[in-house]
Amino acid sequence: LPLSFAQTRLWFLEQMGGLGSTYHIPTSMRLRGELDRDALVRALDRIVARHEALRTTFAQVDGTPTQQIAPADVGFHLVEHDLRGRADAEAELRRVMSEEARAPFSLERGPLIRGRLIRMAEADHVLLVTMHHIVSDGWSMGVLTQELGALYGAFRRGAPDPLPALAIQYADFAAWQRRWVEGEVLREQADYWTRTLGGAPELLALPTDHPRPARVDHAGAMLRVELDEELTGGLKALGRRHGTTLYMTLLAGWAAVLGRLSGQDDVVIGSPTAGRGRREIEGLIGFFVNTLAVRVDLADGPTVAELLGRVKERTLGAQHHQDIPFEQVVERVAPTRSLSHGPLFQVMFAWQEMTRDGGLALPGLEMGRVGAAPAEVQAKFDLSLNLRQAGDRIVGTLTYATSLFERETVERWLGYLRRMLEQMAADEGRRVERLALLSGDERSRVLDEWNRTEAAYPGESCIHQLFEAQVERTPEATALVFEGELLTYAELNGRANRLAHHLRSLGVGPDVRVGICVERSLEMMVGLLAVLKAGGAYVPLDPSYPLDRLHYMLADSAPAVVLTQARLRDRVEHAGVPVLELDADAPAWAHRPAANRERDALTPDHLAYVIYTSGSTGRPKGVEVAHRGVVNRLAWMPAFHGLDAREVVLQKTPYSFDVSVWELFWPLAAGARLVIARPDGHRDPAYLSEVIRRERVTAVHFVPSLLGVFLEHPECAAGAALRRVVTSGEALTPELVARVGQRLPGVELHNLYGPTEAAVDVTAWKCATDGSETRVPIGRPVANTRIYLLDPAGEPVPVGVAGELHVGGVQVARGYGRRPGLTAERFTADPFGGAPGARLYRTGDLARWRPDGTIEYLGRMDHQVKVRGLRIELGEIEARLREHAAVRECVVLARQDAPGQTRLVAYVVGGETAGAEVLRAHLGQTLPEHMVPAAYVRLEALPLTPNGKLDRKA
Ligand code: AMP
Ligand code: MG
Repeated sequence: LPLSFAQTRLWFLEQMGGLGSTYHIPTSMRLRGELDRDALVRALDRIVARHEALRTTFAQVDGTPTQQIAPADVGFHLVEHDLRGRADAEAELRRVMSEEARAPFSLERGPLIRGRLIRMAEADHVLLVTMHHIVSDGWSMGVLTQELGALYGAFRRGAPDPLPALAIQYADFAAWQRRWVEGEVLREQADYWTRTLGGAPELLALPTDHPRPARVDHAGAMLRVELDEELTGGLKALGRRHGTTLYMTLLAGWAAVLGRLSGQDDVVIGSPTAGRGRREIEGLIGFFVNTLAVRVDLADGPTVAELLGRVKERTLGAQHHQDIPFEQVVERVAPTRSLSHGPLFQVMFAWQEMTRDGGLALPGLEMGRVGAAPAEVQAKFDLSLNLRQAGDRIVGTLTYATSLFERETVERWLGYLRRMLEQMAADEGRRVERLALLSGDERSRVLDEWNRTEAAYPGESCIHQLFEAQVERTPEATALVFEGELLTYAELNGRANRLAHHLRSLGVGPDVRVGICVERSLEMMVGLLAVLKAGGAYVPLDPSYPLDRLHYMLADSAPAVVLTQARLRDRVEHAGVPVLELDADAPAWAHRPAANRERDALTPDHLAYVIYTSGSTGRPKGVEVAHRGVVNRLAWMPAFHGLDAREVVLQKTPYSFDVSVWELFWPLAAGARLVIARPDGHRDPAYLSEVIRRERVTAVHFVPSLLGVFLEHPECAAGAALRRVVTSGEALTPELVARVGQRLPGVELHNLYGPTEAAVDVTAWKCATDGSETRVPIGRPVANTRIYLLDPAGEPVPVGVAGELHVGGVQVARGYGRRPGLTAERFTADPFGGAPGARLYRTGDLARWRPDGTIEYLGRMDHQVKVRGLRIELGEIEARLREHAAVRECVVLARQDAPGQTRLVAYVVGGETAGAEVLRAHLGQTLPEHMVPAAYVRLEALPLTPNGKLDRKA
């Protein structure tokens, strides 16, 4: 005889090797009073005789599993124990129960139902019955206890078997199911499932505490769940108003919580159904239970009422199409399969309707409960929520896979479920995404406790004033070293002041921009300081950028003056903007005073610089940063890094990137020494090793990808004075951290994180370079900075859940120059900060809290990428590429085809008349070299998703 579909799946799972006791259905009952043992044994035998399923074994015949039914008189396999008078009887009982629950079944040899009768005392017995799921299910338990009661009662009285014969048997059902699957009804049901489950996410990506094992393991643990009378009453009332059952209402709440935890608005939950929709099979013992995959749509911000409506429609649909076995649904929907998780859904919600019978009742005996069997908990899914109604309350369990989750995490999530349900019951008009998951304590922890960063800083000072104060303290100390030339603090100050007075005469003042297009040199530093001293804001213009880009930046930032060097003058002559050559024109301001300018209208909230960064819509955008944030950032540094005046800092980051800001100004504010790397030096590990050694550099910054290159250099460790390496700009890997420990023993490694829009860095972490870190966090917020991780509705996310990183506090930039729309989109009011006028910057970075309040960076939410630490909007490259006449459509991706080596690749539709060289040259006219893709691939068409959107993954 063939197997049913459900049996076939279980059979295969068992063949694949060891499900342990995952599919055992154990039950235990305590029988107090005079037991008629023979009547009980006869009743059990009779049940086995009635139900072919209980006499069935499974063997492979010609490669196909088949059911083999033993004769009706095989009897019930009962082992008897007599523990009367034993002092350790209770302990022994527990041991027997545990053994019974775990003992394997042989599907091939049977029996697949077995039991133990344990005599504890004259009038005290324990009956254990265990069945394998392949011949039974929860409903079957009810049938069994009911029949056992009726048969025992009759046999005890000496009466014959009172039960009517069964009309059909399980094997008839299995055969019918096989035939029925070919038919029309089934086709209609199958269509329903392919329609509703098509394109569902492969995995509900819950934030697990541990990485998902390559193969599911079934180790589990269980929490008790109880919803009190008030909440239960509230949920019932809610259901009455919306025509939903408790099952639907609870499912809606569960789906909403899972959606928030996973960040997915499309959630599939498994739900068992008894599968007993036909009268003929109601009285059978057998494996009928079926699983429905209920897909809940949380998209577009439904209200509670709307969500209930959606869930109702889905669950009714699912129930209406429940005859088709889940195995068939999986086959038809054909989701991507994986050994690491179940198909279609990984989370279960089981609602046990009130059962018809109240459990086993044997006449003349008092039924009792046996303390919970010490059997291990099996987790068939990531999470299984099992609930039922018990009087005026809802009770049950939440089982979780211990390979994925810690108990505290799941306990917290249960709290979220309760709060979600409470708020749903309280107000059905609210949008589900706005309902708060966090408890008051958790909320204040993530919003306030972990953001207690208030610290004193020179809030009245501008950047250059920090330097001027240092000049007073150590005028004769060496401030700058560049290729054998030195400048003292006093000399540097004098030169910068002369130029500052001159710039002032040219109209430079608060918020006035001054372009600066120079190579790394002493003049660069003089120029930058002079702009600040004049009260203006500098706009760094990298001389290696294409003319087109430089001209765009000049036009966009509208500087009053541009500072340059004689050899670079032609790069910046544009639309009549006055140009000063820092070298050749210096005599023009030689007569100006060398003393500091008087303090004037300039405040720390005026601009210090405007740094351009790639723009997704096709043009770079200028980030406007005021003095205050930078001063705070510089003041925080020594507290974190332990920096002091003995420090020697290498300045190697191009000044068009904001990392250069602390390299340039922190040493000068602290009396330390600044070593300026030669113009092309920052990419040359041999030069860097050499200059670090020669100048006794103590602190240096690398973006991680360049740190990797540097560490490869044989001489990198020769700089014996090196004490600190600071990285930022892209994700730091544990491998790289460990390599620093090996190559540069004793050197501290600091991982800093921050966007240009928030004065360089906003979080920091001291790495453990002993190889103990498996993920490198970005740490905690710096002084006077608040970090919020928010979901799309602007709610703080729980610990462990991915949220968009928002930055608040004094370092938030003013905005984007001449881009009020974009500024309003990315810079918003801080709803949590308290301070009036406080603002937030939305970074577009995804991150999560660790339980200890440190932050882990997870990636980008958009198409911004980093290549060698340089920030690139792929959209900007695409916009430029599309301007070429031969290009119809295009996509640019950042690919890592070799580890640690990110390259840009352009995929182009059209372009037959334009080869890679032509496109490269076209892009080179407007984009800096690091934004020009390395490779060009021609496609017939761009791959699209089923709903017509670009499929970047493909
Ligand atoms: P930028 O404005 O050039 O400093 O780039 C800022 C972006 O670089 C951030 O939004 C992040 O995406 C990325 N980033 C900066 N620092 C880190 C870091 N330590 N780890 C991972 N990503 C980082
Ligand atoms: Mg940065």
